[in-house]
Amino acid sequence: MARNSLDLLAFEDWVAFTAEDRAWLQANAAGLVQALVARLQPPAPEDAALFASWLPEWLQTLCSGDYGRSFWERQIKTGKRLAEADIPLPRWAQWLSELRWKQIPSVLGDIFPAAPASLLPGFSLLLAGCEHVIHEGYLQQQSHQLLLEIRGLTQHFDLEEFFPAAAELACRLAGAQGAGLIVREGEYLHYRLFHGLSTQYQGLASLFFPKSEGVSGAALRQGKVIFERDYANSPYAMPDFVAAGLQASLALPLPGPEGAQGVLALSWFAEAPPQRINELVWEHLLLLADLLGALLYRQSLERKLRHMSTRDVLTGLPNRRVAQDRIRAAMARAQRHERLFCLFFLDLDGFKWVNDTLGHHRGDEVLCQVAERLRAAVREEDSIIRYAGDEFLLIIEDIAHVSEMEMIVMRVLAAARLSVAPEQSISASIGVVIYPFDEGSPEEMIRHADQAMYVAKERGGDTWAPYGQYLQETMQEEQQLLRELRLADERHEFRLYWQPIVTLPEQRICGVEALMRWQHPNRGLLAPGAFLEVLEQSVLMDSVAQWVVATAVVEANRWHQGGHLLDIHINLSRRELCSARWIQWCDDLLRRFPAVRRDHLFFEIVERVAIKDIPTVAKQIRSAQRQLGVQFVLDDFGTGASALQHLGELDCAGIKIDKSMISDLQKGSKHYQLVQGLTYLAENLAIEAVAEGVETAEVAELLTQIGVKKAQGYWFARPGPAAAIDTWLEKETCSVSAG
Ligand code: C2E
Ligand code: CA
Ligand code: CA
Repeated sequence: MARNSLDLLAFEDWVAFTAEDRAWLQANAAGLVQALVARLQPPAPEDAALFASWLPEWLQTLCSGDYGRSFWERQIKTGKRLAEADIPLPRWAQWLSELRWKQIPSVLGDIFPAAPASLLPGFSLLLAGCEHVIHEGYLQQQSHQLLLEIRGLTQHFDLEEFFPAAAELACRLAGAQGAGLIVREGEYLHYRLFHGLSTQYQGLASLFFPKSEGVSGAALRQGKVIFERDYANSPYAMPDFVAAGLQASLALPLPGPEGAQGVLALSWFAEAPPQRINELVWEHLLLLADLLGALLYRQSLERKLRHMSTRDVLTGLPNRRVAQDRIRAAMARAQRHERLFCLFFLDLDGFKWVNDTLGHHRGDEVLCQVAERLRAAVREEDSIIRYAGDEFLLIIEDIAHVSEMEMIVMRVLAAARLSVAPEQSISASIGVVIYPFDEGSPEEMIRHADQAMYVAKERGGDTWAPYGQYLQETMQEEQQLLRELRLADERHEFRLYWQPIVTLPEQRICGVEALMRWQHPNRGLLAPGAFLEVLEQSVLMDSVAQWVVATAVVEANRWHQGGHLLDIHINLSRRELCSARWIQWCDDLLRRFPAVRRDHLFFEIVERVAIKDIPTVAKQIRSAQRQLGVQFVLDDFGTGASALQHLGELDCAGIKIDKSMISDLQKGSKHYQLVQGLTYLAENLAIEAVAEGVETAEVAELLTQIGVKKAQGYWFARPGPAAAIDTWLEKETCSVSAG
């Protein structure tokens, strides 16, 4: 409806006064106005001020007998003033109607009995005209204000900012309690944004639902507004939403170039919707929907553009534009988590032949195939980038050790080996840099990897080469160490040492931890720090780990049989923890040593390792507990990205508070409070806390004060051969409890 329809009014039609009436009015206006002012009350107490300033003048014009254009313009102005003052229109309509039907007739009858009879119907018609025009003025002003408000909204150029403001306005206009922005995603509808909706409702609405369903589905399909005042009994009612208390629902389609892109849905919960939504409100709701549609479309275009500019069209992989950003992000993560990451520069061997001989079309196919195989060869979180033609960059993160990189590069090489025609295959040459060994800028890292790739090419392809002296040397050293470790295994150079775990404050031995040593032929007795990382990367670890457990079980058998019911702690690496056969192997072993009290066997897993894959580790722990009847302990607790919140899930019998927290334990220090907190937590979870790395009497004393019940460290005893434990045991007697 056009708001300027006022011009079409034939003003004079509303004026039915005769010449006689007008003459009478001109003569008696003052008296009539006075009488009316005396009788009239403001429509509501809060309107008193406006009423007092406006009424006398308005009545004067009403009674003036002159009803030209300026009279009607004054009525328009009156309407605008009412809207500006935010006075509800019905209140004034009622006041006008009282004036028309009660006050004027009674004043004329009581005070001016001689007035012409046609005066009364004349006033009645005039006031009907005034009401109509005041209404128009009111709507004009309201519309103007709303437009200003909407113009204000359009200052939000982002959908995410625009929506809450627009939704708030839409709810206010329609008296609704909540709004949602629902978009089409393939075959589904999906709530993108919410306003004012309860969390319960948001929970429901966060589901995707088929695009044919609900009021929104219907509005989208039919491309028109759908308003269900009685939602529960509407054809579109969905049971979950009815149960959530949805009373009424209004869905406004959001226009787009290819039909509706989504829906602005208004919801009523607490109150029923108004009987009638006036036209002005409708217009503005539709305007809001149009604006939402425009922003939504712009956002989709932006997304498309961004995607296009950072994706390689052929393979769908990210393109070289993102390379430096990804490398920079990997650097930041590597620093934060103190890990390595490596960058592979991969160039295909023999690809030129494919293109030249089999044609570009086949070349494209091969590239896509390679992309797919590379994707499958690395982890989900690793990046693969199509750098140029047949060049790819791979960013492999979260690497603990150089040897881990070697395994991955072998897998990638295998993935790139591909037969492209009978007796013709392609392969890859890969140059490798590792951060932070190579800690240049991202461009430099790429350049170095590229240079290393050329080394691999020169060696005939289908191979890889590292960049830089340092990396080459480290790798050579590791190769050497691994060779020696193989020999060590053959020559039985590994030893198992034991360190007591004692009770506090008594300092009596209650358990022992098995710690591996290597009796190196010329470097002497080596602690695991010198070899374990490299060993764990190799299959050799499996047999060494079996040897550790078997040796530990033999000693445990001896101690338990001898009446010393020690807790036996054995360290477990990730390899064993994740191996499918390990539990069965342990079971076979333990059956051969029935004297071993399985409930006194504890396997220690490092917190950092355990939280890497909680579900798998938790499952493995539960199976081992069930089938073997052994317990698990989280080792080095407090060093990883804390497993605190996963303690429950992992089902561990205890934690070992890491020595980094124990060693500088002073009263009042941060660590003091941390250890206190952990002890308290462990007590509450009914799990055991063992303090590691106790090196001084003071620390032992502080731990006792805190209430730590078990501890381990050089202060009590250094790790030593099993015989050293025997000596300790001889000195005290550890009682065997029959239960
Ligand atoms: P861990 O499990 O945290 O073992 C405790 C380490 O702290 C041992 O180092 C021990 O000698 C040392 N330690 C004990 N008391 C003190 C102390 O008062 N002060 C200090 N500064 N250190 C103390 P170790 O024997 O060098 O072992 C290092 C790590 O190697 C172990 O840390 C464990 O994670 C791993 N490890 C040892 N043996 C095995 C094994 O058989 N299998 C596996 N998978 N890992 C093992
Ligand atoms: Ca341990
Ligand atoms: Ca530890």
